[in-house]
Amino acid sequence: MKIRRIVVTGGAGFLGSHLCDRLVNAGHDVICVDNFFTSQKSNISHLLGRPNFELIRHDVTHPIWLEVDEIYNLACPAAPGHYQYNPIKTMKTSVMGAINLLGMARRCRAKILQASTSEVYGDPEVHPQVESYRGNVNPIGPRACYDEGKRAAETLFFDYQRMNKLNIRVVRIFNTYGPRMHPFDGRVVSNFIRQALAGNDISIFGDGSQTRSFCYVDDLVDGLIAMMNGPDDFHGPVNLGNPNEMSIALLAETVIKMTGSKSKLVKRPLPADDPTQRQPDITLAKAKLGWEPKVALDAGLAKTIEYFRGLDLDQFRAPTPNF
Ligand code: NAD
Ligand code: UDP
Repeated sequence: MKIRRIVVTGGAGFLGSHLCDRLVNAGHDVICVDNFFTSQKSNISHLLGRPNFELIRHDVTHPIWLEVDEIYNLACPAAPGHYQYNPIKTMKTSVMGAINLLGMARRCRAKILQASTSEVYGDPEVHPQVESYRGNVNPIGPRACYDEGKRAAETLFFDYQRMNKLNIRVVRIFNTYGPRMHPFDGRVVSNFIRQALAGNDISIFGDGSQTRSFCYVDDLVDGLIAMMNGPDDFHGPVNLGNPNEMSIALLAETVIKMTGSKSKLVKRPLPADDPTQRQPDITLAKAKLGWEPKVALDAGLAKTIEYFRGLDLDQFRAPTPNF
């Protein structure tokens, strides 16, 4: 195998830390770039002594000069509570981060992959979502800083490809869960497991009939690597996610059953612009990358619950103000 110099921005986060694990274990020279806005060193502390792993505390809204062969651009708060904490910064991170990393890719002639999102489809009227669907995003709502930031980043990737012949790859990630999710990120899987383990009420936003499709982190990391190593003429965008769609109410019941919790379900107001349904069509990923998820929800949830049982919640804090 040819060892490559690989940058992972957002490499200390939930997905990024698992990606760094895989790339370091494969023998690559890995540089993790992160400002720890929504993560903490504990996600990557086990890698710090490895000779082929390097950590740089850096904010991607500022330029950075590195000599690399591949770039995975994951830096961006991803949970609604995190990205709405400072929406202007979220937009800057997506757009200025993309420009800075694309500039690095152009200078180094490096391959570059963008972690985009199912949120580019907004509250979708086409179901399941195919990549050709252009979406239904509210450009002025509370989710827009994230959705439109990611859409603008996709635009930049394709313009750099057309103008500079950059070797780009764009993946649209659907809801992914697993160990190392931030316990206070407010996402549904982390919230439900934390609430169930503490015996607290389980917060169902709305009536719980809205749907999501949950992918286990190991499958998603397989997909990211498959896309980076996929055909050079396949830029995407390509959906990565698990098509196993379910209602939020059913997810709550499943978590209660699996944790043996006595928690009750309580209804809370549905946040503005919360998508009513979401399911990836992964035909393209199967055809172009030979990728599809393998981990069933029960198996993935069992590992995630085990991780949350072992957490000392005092070691985690809410996002740092980051204006
Ligand atoms: P996360 O919040 O755990 O990770 C994001 C990481 O980026 C964190 O370590 C954070 O500190 C870092 N970061 C944020 N702003 C930064 C900045 N300005 N400079 C440098 N680092 C910065 O979230 P995640 O779930 O691991 O998401 C990773 C990527 O995948 C994000 O780009 C997200 O939009 C995308 N994504 C994730 C999901 C999912 O379900 N997990 C779904 C769709 C898309
Ligand atoms: N949700 C919920 N209770 C919670 C957190 C989230 O019912 O404690 C709902 C939320 O309204 C949404 C779904 O679960 O319909 C997924 O929310 P999440 O924030 O995980 O991701 P996203 O909305 O970005 O898909």
